[in-house]
Amino acid sequence: MSINIEKILGLLKDEREVLRDPVSRLIALAEHCSSHAVFTTSFGLEDQMITDIIAREKLPFSIVTLDTGRFFPETYDVWQRTEERYAIRIKAYYPHSERLTALVADQGINGFYYSSQMRKACCAIRKIEPLERATRGALAWITGLRRDQSKMRETVTFVLHDTDRNLLKVNPLYDLTRDAISAYTKKRDVPINSLHQAGFLSIGCAPCTRPVQKDEDERSGRWWWEKESLKECGLHTKREKDSSHFI
Ligand code: SF4
Repeated sequence: MSINIEKILGLLKDEREVLRDPVSRLIALAEHCSSHAVFTTSFGLEDQMITDIIAREKLPFSIVTLDTGRFFPETYDVWQRTEERYAIRIKAYYPHSERLTALVADQGINGFYYSSQMRKACCAIRKIEPLERATRGALAWITGLRRDQSKMRETVTFVLHDTDRNLLKVNPLYDLTRDAISAYTKKRDVPINSLHQAGFLSIGCAPCTRPVQKDEDERSGRWWWEKESLKECGLHTKREKDSSHFI
């Protein structure tokens, strides 16, 4: 599998000059990866654009979500509207029930507020372990990461080798602005989470997300009680800074 990943990485690197928009990037990925790519959606603005492209272009990727059990009701609503709009079913991966039971018994139902360590333990059980299952056997993992979402994401690029998971991590929207994505979703009448209109720019679990102010960065409403440097859930903070694999 690792030989194929390096080969595809090289092919995409060769083509990067002509892959200037998300549609051509995702089509190129489909040509090289066929159905061996998984797109994880949390139904935010970026993810809705990617779902629209996958559905419109009939790309053979699996669309899945990591349902932590703590989503906003509005997120479940846009999930349903998305399935209806595109006549698709989005596969849900849930936390391992015994591990979740043990976590809640240990730290309480909202223990993530007590410390960064306890918050990360919750993210590990509700998101990271389900992600491992969702991407098992895949060559590529498609995400909605963008450079200008936060300082921690400013080095995000189109594709890299996630060496810990041995996956190609593909970010087709990496250089797009939020305004460009918003314009796309309006033009295409893509279903979006109603919380975006209420100031929630980045939407995760309900107890860990709040609206942001005009001068704050997009992800400042996530885990707002923590220091900026700690604010990732662990899905996107592994050995991605291996710049030799950036293209
Ligand atoms: S975002 Fe909050 S509720 Fe969701 S998995 Fe992480 S700590 Fe738990």
